Amino acid sequence: MDIYRIRPGTQVDLRQWDPDDKSAFEGGKSEGQKAVEKLNCRLEVLQELLYAEGKHKVLVVLQAMDTGGKDGVIRHVFDGVNPQGVRVASFKAPTPEELAHDYLWRIHKHTPGKGEMVIFNRSHYEDVLVVRVHNLVPPDVWGRRYAHINDFERMLAEEGTTILKFFLHISKDEQKARLQARLDEPDKRWKFNVGDLGERALWDEYMRAYEVVLSETSTEWAPWYIVPANRKWYRDLVISEVLVQTLESLNMRYPQPKENLDEVVIE
Ligand code: ATP
Ligand code: MG
Repeated sequence: MDIYRIRPGTQVDLRQWDPDDKSAFEGGKSEGQKAVEKLNCRLEVLQELLYAEGKHKVLVVLQAMDTGGKDGVIRHVFDGVNPQGVRVASFKAPTPEELAHDYLWRIHKHTPGKGEMVIFNRSHYEDVLVVRVHNLVPPDVWGRRYAHINDFERMLAEEGTTILKFFLHISKDEQKARLQARLDEPDKRWKFNVGDLGERALWDEYMRAYEVVLSETSTEWAPWYIVPANRKWYRDLVISEVLVQTLESLNMRYPQPKENLDEVVIE
């Protein structure tokens, strides 16, 4: 899955990244789904270990265009993980109070504590994506933010946070099909947001903004992965695999009991 990790200093051209790619897995959909289930079980154990050890903090950032599958990842990849140890923070358009502060203010308070795993459903990256595409602040203001973000994430990493960032990469055609399905299927209509069509019209501008994000903010301490996301099962597989591998590399251990328990007799 390392082929999807962006090396620092890479200039990303998203046209070179195939949203249909599935080259890191030999099998097809049903084998892929089975592999995800197995990884779910590993993740469940690793998350318990994370919580028990209470040492590391894990932050997973999800960014995507509308219908890109952030919700699907949260449902499938974290299926079975104890909800007590995992938290999702969703970032929508900022409130007046949030806008009155710097853009990282609302973000920082949702970062994980020791033993915790937090998933960001959208993130501080919106402040260089939607904000840049819609000119919500002048270019010199958003232009400085890439460096802020790298510094902010470096600070989090140095203070014990493991950061993984995933861009769910779908094609414009796939987005069309998913939006159409939301229109056509009565049970999906509630998800249809007319506003998404306005953002879709700005697809190319968003792709350019994502390319700058991926080029400027993939660091040793907080790497970006470009996840081929046209196939939902493959998207889930890539993210599950990266997450499990990363947690395994932390070499976590259950803490030693505080007293010698060998002598304990329960009457
Ligand atoms: P879904 O549509 O799948 O429920 P979503 O993440 O698209 O999930 P919405 O409520 O539709 O949720 O959209 C949130 C909106 O908030 C997005 O259009 C996003 O660009 C916007 N947003 C998030 N952060 C900021 C920000 N800092 N400044 C301006 N807009 C933002
Ligand atoms: Mg939306």
